[in-house]
Amino acid sequence: MKIKAWRIEKHGGVEVLQRKDLDLPDPGPMQVRVKVQAVALNHLDLWVRKGVPGHKFPLPMTPGCDVVGKVAALGPGSAESLAKDGIQVGSEVVVSPGVSCGHCEACLSGFDPLCPSYGIIGETMDGGCADFINVSVANLILKPASLSVTQAAALLIPYLTAWTMLVRKAQLKPGENVLVHAGGSGVSIACIEIAKMLGATVITTVGTDDKIAKAKQLGADHVINYKQTRFRDELKKIGKKVSIVVDHVGSETFAESIKSLTWGGRLVTCGATSGPMVEIDLRHIFFKNISILGTTMGSKGDLHEILNLAAQGKLKPVIDHVYPMDQLPQAHERLESRAAFGKLVVTQ
Ligand SMILES: [Zn+2]
Repeated sequence: MKIKAWRIEKHGGVEVLQRKDLDLPDPGPMQVRVKVQAVALNHLDLWVRKGVPGHKFPLPMTPGCDVVGKVAALGPGSAESLAKDGIQVGSEVVVSPGVSCGHCEACLSGFDPLCPSYGIIGETMDGGCADFINVSVANLILKPASLSVTQAAALLIPYLTAWTMLVRKAQLKPGENVLVHAGGSGVSIACIEIAKMLGATVITTVGTDDKIAKAKQLGADHVINYKQTRFRDELKKIGKKVSIVVDHVGSETFAESIKSLTWGGRLVTCGATSGPMVEIDLRHIFFKNISILGTTMGSKGDLHEILNLAAQGKLKPVIDHVYPMDQLPQAHERLESRAAFGKLVVTQ
């Protein structure tokens, strides 16, 4: 069938996002065609559009990783597989963004991001900024009725990554002090909510004063405007030693983040928005028994728990702005400006 899709044919500014007519084949065996209703943007969308030196994206491609929609057609064999989850034509579904083989050791051990053939919808294959997308039945989760399509889309990569960082990697315990950088970003908002839900004290940094109240509303106990004061000085002032730092800012903050950690502390990272090269004084690492933990994404299974917690109102995605699908370039511009507090979602 003919569909409209946003396409990236070459890397560059928002002008490289072009809406095109595209042929979408019928869904193959164990595949499903989903009518796209909402796609939430991530920082990853900017990398896909702008390109990353030394990394090859499969251009031309359709961007969009975090997709929610309605089942429109079933490929051979998929009806039986989905029936047990109550999914049929017309069901609203969340598309889990990670794609893996499903039968290697990593997949069977429950941490599919380590699968040798792991990929992400909208990064390593066509994504959801289109009328329709074909996905495997393994990627479908029935959308909880209490969540809107916009809310469900806003929960995927950020909460999955935050959950992996804090729960799986850093093994956060109640009562710990956690420093979360860039408190207005999607993944940091998810970290603040998850850390508070699990009984931690949360300190976060923001770049503008108008984000302070918003971060406090989320539950952050202390909010530091990092443009006005050095966050390490402020931590000293409020008398907080932190045992976990979430740092996806990278070169601007990393060295100070390490120094902020108490003995036995853990630094978790899932990105480097200000640059990937950092200098580390190894004496801080071994003398203080510090761990540096990296991750991207997380296990498909954890997404079920996240959606469940959100359905119960224990996690609440923050939406900065919703755009119609034909304004995808404007959504990219707002994401890139760092002005947003929360998620940018395109809907149709
Ligand atoms: Zn695998």
